[in-house]
Amino acid sequence: MSSIAPAAPAEMHGDARIEVLFEELAELTGQRNAIDGRLVDIIAEIDHDGLWGNTGARSLPALIAWKTGLTPNNAATLAAVAHRRDEFPQCTQYLRDGRLSLDQVGVIAERAADGSDAHYAQLAPYATVSQLRTAIKLAPRPEPAPGPAPPPAITRTDRGDHIDYRLRLSPLAAATFDAALQSHHDALITDWKRDQDTAPADNGAPDDAGDPGRPPMPTNLDAFLRLVEDSWDAEATRRPHGQRTTLVVHLDLNQRLADLHLGPLLTDSDHHYLTCDATAEIWFERDGRPLGAGRSTRTIGRRLRRALERRDKHCVVPGSAATRGLHAHHLIHWEHGGPTELHNLVLVCPYHHRAHHNGLITLTGPADHLIVTNPDDQPLHPGSLARPPQNPPPHVSPCPGPTGERADWWWYDPYQPQPPPNTN
Ligand SMILES: [Zn+2]
Ligand SMILES: [Zn+2]
Repeated sequence: MSSIAPAAPAEMHGDARIEVLFEELAELTGQRNAIDGRLVDIIAEIDHDGLWGNTGARSLPALIAWKTGLTPNNAATLAAVAHRRDEFPQCTQYLRDGRLSLDQVGVIAERAADGSDAHYAQLAPYATVSQLRTAIKLAPRPEPAPGPAPPPAITRTDRGDHIDYRLRLSPLAAATFDAALQSHHDALITDWKRDQDTAPADNGAPDDAGDPGRPPMPTNLDAFLRLVEDSWDAEATRRPHGQRTTLVVHLDLNQRLADLHLGPLLTDSDHHYLTCDATAEIWFERDGRPLGAGRSTRTIGRRLRRALERRDKHCVVPGSAATRGLHAHHLIHWEHGGPTELHNLVLVCPYHHRAHHNGLITLTGPADHLIVTNPDDQPLHPGSLARPPQNPPPHVSPCPGPTGERADWWWYDPYQPQPPPNTN
């Protein structure tokens, strides 16, 4: 296919020429929508059967971004539509038929109420993405059920592989909490923006805001953790001889058992994870008698850390573009004689660091010939799956796009959620 030949002859007149171009645009848009519909079906299958768990990706959108080369935002839209495909059968069918774009169905899948499929299927072919957003905003939110307010509390539930915290606050305490969280979030965003402005454009690739190599925007959870760490530091400096409590790991050299100071016995994977980077203080013990604190070469000096950052730039696991809070992982654990040197270290994000020590992925060195595999020993490859197509494009009608009429919201009937059936 001669892909760069002009679509409309240059000797054609302006109006006629743009008509020809629009026609081809409509045809390709219809095909593109249909292809997006097929992508959604494939992703729904991966989602539904949990097939992404084995790929080393931290989430379905991360996997999609990795394998398709899309921005995280576009990948998240695909995942959202795939996730609610069965709740919006008509809207997704219009996508497969080429009549609606992924962005139109995406807005619906991301925000619309359950049961609104028929309503939005009727509106969407005429509405632009922003008109759809407005229409969804006009739909009433479900009313919360009235009842006595439960007392404030903080609860902690151990779920085995993670801990759930639940915080219930009075409106006044919640306002204080929100304000504190907001100020920490603002500070993180300021830092993040400064990083964005000063980040060197590496490997010559064009940088744009959606580049998956960019650190993600700090979230409320990041702000919460910053709040905790800052007040922890403040509390430590307030006390005489104060020192921030470190996580202390006791390592019994005879039994090769590790436990947290005054805490539970650690599993092997937790112990390797904690002692891999300089996140914990290690106390060596023999038969319960302390021999001394961990050797200092385990920790990564500033120069070494900088050299590592220059070499790896982001998490080394394929498909992971994380650049923040990276851990320096010892490919051969220092306990097994692995040196704290460049060739034995790689930068990994906390998620993949844990995933590795939990046996979800393997990292085999040396660092310059790193091999990353999933639990089935299949190597993970960076880059997208894109290749030239071998099948013809889908047979669908051209899509002229939304009619783009001015919306008259006065006459628009927002979607009304149906009250739940009365079971009395
Ligand atoms: Zn490690
Ligand atoms: Zn990672």
